[in-house]
Amino acid sequence: MIPPLSVNSAIGGIAWPGLPAQNGASLLAILFQLEQSQWWSAQELSQRQRNQLNALLDHARTHVPFYRERLQGLGDLPADETWPEVWRRIAPLTRAEIQAADAAETMVTETLPPGHGELREIYTSGSTGKPIRSVRTQLWELMWSAFTVRDHLWHRRDLQGVFATLRESGQGKALYPDGLRAESWGYSSATILKTGPMVSLNVATPVEQQVEWLRRQNPDYLLTHPTIARRLADHCRDHGVRLPQLKQVITIAENLKPEVRSAVHDAWGVPLVDVYSTREIGYIALQCPDHEHYHIQSEHVLVEVLNEEGQPCAPGEVGKLLVTSLHNLAMPLIRYDIGDYVEVGRPCPCGRGLPVIQRILGRTQNMLVMPSGERRWPLLSSANIATMLEIAPAIREYQFAQKAPDLIEFRLAVPQPLAADEEARLTEWVRTKLDAPFGVVFAYFDEIPRTAAGKFEDFVCEIDRGG
Ligand SMILES: [Zn+2]
Repeated sequence: MIPPLSVNSAIGGIAWPGLPAQNGASLLAILFQLEQSQWWSAQELSQRQRNQLNALLDHARTHVPFYRERLQGLGDLPADETWPEVWRRIAPLTRAEIQAADAAETMVTETLPPGHGELREIYTSGSTGKPIRSVRTQLWELMWSAFTVRDHLWHRRDLQGVFATLRESGQGKALYPDGLRAESWGYSSATILKTGPMVSLNVATPVEQQVEWLRRQNPDYLLTHPTIARRLADHCRDHGVRLPQLKQVITIAENLKPEVRSAVHDAWGVPLVDVYSTREIGYIALQCPDHEHYHIQSEHVLVEVLNEEGQPCAPGEVGKLLVTSLHNLAMPLIRYDIGDYVEVGRPCPCGRGLPVIQRILGRTQNMLVMPSGERRWPLLSSANIATMLEIAPAIREYQFAQKAPDLIEFRLAVPQPLAADEEARLTEWVRTKLDAPFGVVFAYFDEIPRTAAGKFEDFVCEIDRGG
């Protein structure tokens, strides 16, 4: 059952049905269309995307200096099904190109059509350590809000509940024991809908204190990074801590490992819902309401998954992701290579026509380099992990860091360093798993360090490639 929604009314004397003010009305207009378009066929979605891409290209080549050159000679995308071939003539956009163009002041639009609102900027570091600026509009933020609400609707959330977040990483913000409390779930939802409160705690809080805080807040929903969810779930399972109101755990910002879903289920008996987004693009894909794979948010982004030859991957194949933000006219990101690899899924049995991403594999720069120079994904299946834990049950967190073409540092968070025979068996396990006779050294931590953005990767490539 879907909990009843209450739309806020901005008109005096009208309590029900709610009539929102202008932003809320626009948001509802988008949501009304999203309710329909999720069921459209791939062909229908593709035609509407083409229309919006033509509007975007027209704006970019006229008003954004960087694209004047890049889109030279490219006319409108044709009205038939061949448009993607024409589209693929546009060169993929790299992070370095964005940095250079922004430094040369050619990346941001000279003007905007009426109705797009003010410019808003954010900075994002990615995992390369090279920050880029992303500039958007208020209209883009409104679109972003619509997909936030879509995620709540898809996953049948009770908006009157308590929404807890463990993601704030700002120094001195949302500190234990109080954290922060807001009276609504935030701008996106509260523009139109009545919601319960949102409570937040800084991610750097030690796990015992996170758990104590969560017990006090007794949330209906918990939003956090997968590795934080994993650590909390393990702690709660080991100490028998239940969160009686909890209905879902929502994860963002890192690649989700399958074992986190089972850890959350074992600890609290609730499902995990993952969100695939980036700071510069916004929502890319949301988890299907009925399955664990993801639906591309085709009304907001064009997603291409391409093989080495730059051709679209078929279901079951893994390829590089290029993303185009359909509605950001402030700083258009067209065929942006965000550095992620994903596996294309088959059409979803739920009936939604939005294309499926089966798995998100992660960042290109964190692929394993084999002694032959070939690059591979060092993916661990849950059977692999089970074997690792049989050898060394005390492992709380693990990370592989490739230090040289023939050397892996195996980083472990354990109560105490492993015994020599455990290290020897794990070394064998690493070599079997990675399919090459790597040298393996062990490094021990209380907690595996995160990247500057607070993210966690289970495999990092730290080979110096000359900058
Ligand atoms: Zn589905």
